[in-house]
Amino acid sequence: MITIKCPQCQSDNLYDAEFCRHCGLRLAKDCPGCGIANPHQFSYCTQCGHSLAPAPEPSVEEKKGTDNETKEVVKEAIKEEFKFDFYESL
Ligand SMILES: [Zn+2]
Ligand SMILES: [Zn+2]
Repeated sequence: MITIKCPQCQSDNLYDAEFCRHCGLRLAKDCPGCGIANPHQFSYCTQCGHSLAPAPEPSVEEKKGTDNETKEVVKEAIKEEFKFDFYESL
């Protein structure tokens, strides 16, 4: 089972928990690009591939050329990460 640590109380929560079960802190992150909630530990939006980093670089616009490529790589990485979990929960 994949767990994440709450940044506030350091307790373990399920990786896709939206709120910390101990202190109630919101663990999910809203994508700045499309607005959907993503699991706390994700670096990129699962919906649109937008970076979920708290402090986006000012030069984000310049990266647009390689955006599609980045998205594919991120999707593959996410798939790999989840394959494991899916098999275990079946
Ligand atoms: Zn907490
Ligand atoms: Zn998004």
